[in-house]
Amino acid sequence: MFLSELTVTNFRNYKKATMKFENQVNVILGENAQGKTNLLESIYVLAIAKSHRTSRDKELIKWDEEYAKIEGRVHKRTQSVSLEFIISSKGKKAKINSLEQKKLSSYIGTLNAVMFAPEDLNLVKGSPQVRRRFIDMEIGQVAPVYMHELNQYQHILQQRNHLLKQFHHDWDKNNIMLDILTSQLIDVAVKITERRFQFLKMLQKWAEQIHHGISRGLESLKIQYNPSVDVSEDMDLSKMVEVYYEKFAKLKEKEIERGLTLAGPHRDDMQFFVNGKDVQVYGSQGQQRTTALSVKLAEIELIKSEVGEYPILLLDDVLSELDDYRQSHLLNTIQDKVQTFVTTTSVDGIDHETLKKAAKFFITAGE
Ligand code: ATP
Ligand code: MG
Repeated sequence: MFLSELTVTNFRNYKKATMKFENQVNVILGENAQGKTNLLESIYVLAIAKSHRTSRDKELIKWDEEYAKIEGRVHKRTQSVSLEFIISSKGKKAKINSLEQKKLSSYIGTLNAVMFAPEDLNLVKGSPQVRRRFIDMEIGQVAPVYMHELNQYQHILQQRNHLLKQFHHDWDKNNIMLDILTSQLIDVAVKITERRFQFLKMLQKWAEQIHHGISRGLESLKIQYNPSVDVSEDMDLSKMVEVYYEKFAKLKEKEIERGLTLAGPHRDDMQFFVNGKDVQVYGSQGQQRTTALSVKLAEIELIKSEVGEYPILLLDDVLSELDDYRQSHLLNTIQDKVQTFVTTTSVDGIDHETLKKAAKFFITAGE
């Protein structure tokens, strides 16, 4: 799939801008603080209905304006669709071919996008929360129903935490509400856990292959899911449910004492190993960056296998950080199959051949 046209209105530092893109490499050139990242962000928001760098949608609206709007035309193998995404103080509005979508889950996935930005290094170096957010956004892109399950989970989790806090002050052994919420929580938790296992298994398959290539065959990458409850990939759902019940039975006193739900998908994490060693702990800066990159490139293949078409790729300030071998390996991998947007402050940072063929856009002060 590819994006042929984009119009942004009141988005970040853009008043109004319309661009036509090529189904190849598009290079976005500009000095610092001109709007390169903002442009990539607008494409990402058009696809995922969320920013990659903030969870506060209000920040996306141009200062002193009421709303922000992103419009795009997407070409898929069999059809062309127009997308529209509006953010205002009243919330979000998403349209496909001018038809408003009641649920975001029916909107997300029309355009698939993978972003690789400097902060993606946090996927390896950052907190478990960053990794969970990554997993959730990516599964959501290929399985919109997952977003629904996650929302459900968050909702039950909040209620359960609220009740645990109440019990902390005022324990009532006749109140069966905790048992009800626990059972509701487990119902959704196992679905989420199972999807995450499946997702990481596929991701691992691709990422290992890609990492092998980027590292000239010297490194092997392994991804491991670390659940907070003792469940494993080969368990069926009913066994998982059983293990979850045992865990919450054991945790009950502690949970009441702390007023918090202490296990579940909101406490799970994943770990990356290069040649058997934890990259977060032992990896060099370059190994950590390569790991993050391999995972992102793996996602492209994963979306292709799930959706049937390659997503678009957004590379923010990344090329210049890679050495020549890694850069040309990256560009060769995606060449001619993935529409790519690359930002850079200087043409020197980009492989000469790629630049010659690319469509080039010069950005100054949001124009
Ligand atoms: P760099 O090369 O430093 O990464 P960039 O071209 O990627 O620069 P952007 O991150 O796109 O720069 O930001 C461009 C400008 O947009 C910044 O100066 C920032 O202050 C401004 N900006 C950010 N949010 C808003 C907003 N909501 N309204 C208006 N301007 C904004
Ligand atoms: Mg930038």
